[in-house]
Amino acid sequence: MGGATAWVRGSQWYPLPMLLVISTGVSGRAPAENVTDDQCLIWNERGHLSKRKGRKMKFLLLIAFIHFLPQCTGKPLSLDEHQHCHQQTFKEIKREIAGYSDIAKAIINLAVYGNAQNRSYERLARFVDAIGPRLSGSKNLEMAIKYMFSVLQEDSLENVHLEPVKVPHWERGEESAMMLAPRNHSIVILGLGSSVATPPEGITAEVLVVTSFDELHKRAQDAKGKIVVYNQPFISYEETVKYRLLGAVEAGKVGAVASLIRSVASFSINSPHTGWQQYQSDVPKIPTACISMEDAEMMARMSSRGTRIVVTLKMEAKTYPDTGSFNTVAEIVGSKYPEQIVLVSGHLDSWDVGQGAMDDGGGAFISWEALSLIKDLGLRPKRTLRLVLWTAEEAGGVGAEQYYQLHKGNISNFDIVMESDSGTFMPMGLAFTGSDKARAILKEIMQLLQPINVTNIYENGGETDTEYWVRDGVPGASLRDDISKYFWFHHTQGDTMTVQDPNQMNLCAAVWTVVSYVIADMEEMLPRN
Ligand SMILES: [Zn+2]
Repeated sequence: MGGATAWVRGSQWYPLPMLLVISTGVSGRAPAENVTDDQCLIWNERGHLSKRKGRKMKFLLLIAFIHFLPQCTGKPLSLDEHQHCHQQTFKEIKREIAGYSDIAKAIINLAVYGNAQNRSYERLARFVDAIGPRLSGSKNLEMAIKYMFSVLQEDSLENVHLEPVKVPHWERGEESAMMLAPRNHSIVILGLGSSVATPPEGITAEVLVVTSFDELHKRAQDAKGKIVVYNQPFISYEETVKYRLLGAVEAGKVGAVASLIRSVASFSINSPHTGWQQYQSDVPKIPTACISMEDAEMMARMSSRGTRIVVTLKMEAKTYPDTGSFNTVAEIVGSKYPEQIVLVSGHLDSWDVGQGAMDDGGGAFISWEALSLIKDLGLRPKRTLRLVLWTAEEAGGVGAEQYYQLHKGNISNFDIVMESDSGTFMPMGLAFTGSDKARAILKEIMQLLQPINVTNIYENGGETDTEYWVRDGVPGASLRDDISKYFWFHHTQGDTMTVQDPNQMNLCAAVWTVVSYVIADMEEMLPRN
């Protein structure tokens, strides 16, 4: 969608300050995928994560131990050679996981009750208050990436770096909608991402209200020259979002001049909920915006009484050429299999309204918190724990797609891809996609979260940004939490820090950290199909 351009490390399009950042700021260590064992050993001896007494001795013993391990241990599971190697039985794996119970308790204690209590919340508040909303292609998003690049370095994480990508750049400009008949009424709207503008004087037309695409097709004759208003019921986001995505295309096909779409939301205080939409090249592009549930229902009532409705829609929306942006990356490099990756993530971009605190500030900041907690406990997992803060998710997973294209050659080294992008409210468990064997292992890992009673496993562990990997068979996990209020605020002016709760974020961070750490530290990668 939108910006699915090839990854180019061109220099002409990204701004000079960013060039300075990537050319001078990248820390001395090579990205984990390229780290050799030698580099790893040198760093371990100097590393700020290992200052305890006797560490050196333990370290030498560890090296000796590693030396005697079967050669294939920890190798990517997709290689044929693994068939000839010893693999742990499920009983052994169960025992191994149970052995992490003290570490899990330490993580929970630090995140929920200890020094790190409320840290991810406070970091997020400082960030969203300073930067505000961060739409793909905007100056704010560029500032947000610079901000994260510097705070991740200040947090002493490793391999902090930016990976350039090209992203869509759309701006809404001024916009308004006014009902002229049967009475004057100001309709609150938010233009949909990638919408075209109206002429400067606006579009004034009669309204046709429909409740479904079926009804629109049946009344196709009536739609010509009209503004189509969709008043579809909210069933679920997944089910109902098609009206936002395709409403303008379907209305354009039957000759409508604009479309206004009831916000895809479970609750409303006259709030429009924006989002991206898609045109088709063979269908006329008509301006499109979302309206509140209240206005959609009112126009539906008026029209069912046979009342003629006339609306003037004005939108300045404009699409600019794709622009330079970055996925932001930081790591804790693995001690034993540094080339193998456990990826934790959230997206840094947001809509251009509210503060993007919930979508997806919370997910991005609990993912950072996972690395911080592990570092603070002096832990270093066997595999590399990699934080990725995606850019341009809202424009269709654009940053994540280019990341996948760049790194998919290394897919056998990706142990699991994790993204939190469905809120950081009260956690309930983990959604997971992967083999039955991997699911059984995850179930055991979730038992480590008994102390905070978050042990459930659900289906569908892929999110927009991790789906590329999950489709190719990499196990995927996403955080599951109480989303009963998520679609109250989603893509609205109401998505602010006020929605977030520090205690819930502590619990989410604990879940995210225990799961990612244990998977990164277990002797074997998760089995694939
Ligand atoms: Zn999101």
